[in-house]
Amino acid sequence: MKPDEFRKHAHELVEWMASYMENVENYPVKSPVKPGEIFSEIPDNPPQKAEPFESFMKDLDKIIMPGITHWQSPNFYAYFPANTSPPSVLAEMIISTLGAQCMIWETSPAATELEEKVMNWLKKMIGLPDYFEGVIQDTASTSTLAAIITAREKKSGFSFNEQGAGGCGTIRIYCSEQTHSSVEKAVKISGIGRKNLVKIPVLDDFSMDTHKLREAIEKDKALGYIPACVIATLGTTGTTAVDPLRKTGEICSEYGIHLHVDAAMGGTALILPEFNWMLDGCEYIDSLVFNPHKWMFTNFDCSAYFVKDASSLIRTFEILPEYLKTRTRGKVNDYRDWGVPLGRRFRALKLWSVIRSYGVEGLQEKVREHVRIASELEKMILHESDFELPAPRTMNVVCFRYRPSGYDAEQLNKLNEILNHRLNDTGRIYLTHTSLNGRYTLRMVIAQTNVTMEHVRKAWSLILENARSVSI
Ligand SMILES: *Cc1c(COP(=O)(O)O)cnc(C)c1O
Repeated sequence: MKPDEFRKHAHELVEWMASYMENVENYPVKSPVKPGEIFSEIPDNPPQKAEPFESFMKDLDKIIMPGITHWQSPNFYAYFPANTSPPSVLAEMIISTLGAQCMIWETSPAATELEEKVMNWLKKMIGLPDYFEGVIQDTASTSTLAAIITAREKKSGFSFNEQGAGGCGTIRIYCSEQTHSSVEKAVKISGIGRKNLVKIPVLDDFSMDTHKLREAIEKDKALGYIPACVIATLGTTGTTAVDPLRKTGEICSEYGIHLHVDAAMGGTALILPEFNWMLDGCEYIDSLVFNPHKWMFTNFDCSAYFVKDASSLIRTFEILPEYLKTRTRGKVNDYRDWGVPLGRRFRALKLWSVIRSYGVEGLQEKVREHVRIASELEKMILHESDFELPAPRTMNVVCFRYRPSGYDAEQLNKLNEILNHRLNDTGRIYLTHTSLNGRYTLRMVIAQTNVTMEHVRKAWSLILENARSVSI
């Protein structure tokens, strides 16, 4: 493709992008295709001869679009969001045009220095103490893996990396029963082993019971285990429960345990002063992750990882083959030593674009509005006597359940499951569920970039209408 052809296609593509953004609400939110449907429409063999870009675009519309679930629809209330926004998309176009691979300072000084600066901005925006240093990772899963491996190295005197698991005793990791599955994955990958992940029971509000945490640590110590890391969550995936940071931190500091905070979604709420309370006890934090790629309008992937002590992170991950030796080493940040991958995208650019384009106040307004809409929805649900709220709302997630009289526990689960599928099959909204104390619970996450009260009102009428016509 010559530059002139590129220019022509790019202009057309921008039209395609803008009209997608305008029309995204008209697609079924959750793709209705069946397994294998898309696969069977794509030729088994690659083309031997060059094809025009037009035929690629034609197939994009014909084959691919029906198999897309529309995460950017304001009617998307499932999981947690993976928001994008126009300034983020524009920056992503530049990122791919430059195609810079930002593994070390020399491979693009601007990328490294901008990353350091925007991470400092973010740190201020969420109210973390100034001594924290930040690095952008691909996902919260990777950030948490980095935290757990760092904790492992700190506890083993950096011997695990050298000698493998044999060199030190049995390391133990703690988190609540509501913690995201990425923690379990990280203990598996890090060689610590899943059976050394201790899941602490939660209180009625689904936050970690810190008395039980202390008991578990005491018991492990008596048995000769080595407690290395506690993961506290600010905004759990099921219900956005917030673990008590100060109490958890006091325990960690007493026993010399690394405190990692998973604020993948909830971290965005920290840009609002009314959520500062979640960070009470932040002096105890060793590392924290939050995902601007969830609720902060910066398209996937962009995960912000902050550490109190960058030197132990670097000591854990650094490598220095001959071909990566540079004259600037030690004078600048070489982010390849701050996590798992060597190669790195220029993700700081889209964060820069988003923060500048909205301004901190613009971001705050949007996030605050989402929380307000969630509280309105909560009121609407409380109004209906055949619905219940099985978990308290802390920020922008409302957990609810249809509970008409005359059904037993199992039937109610079935009823809500049918309701969930029926709603998603309408194509008008998309919700996912969680299980709370054995109860099938629907979740509505109010966080999509363009969601308004009007969307939520319509969604709620649709839910009511469908709930009252389901039967088993
Ligand atoms: C979404 C989520 C994760 C995982 O995020 P990725 O960036 O997809 O790895 C981890 N923890 C919590 C609390 C989450 O909500």
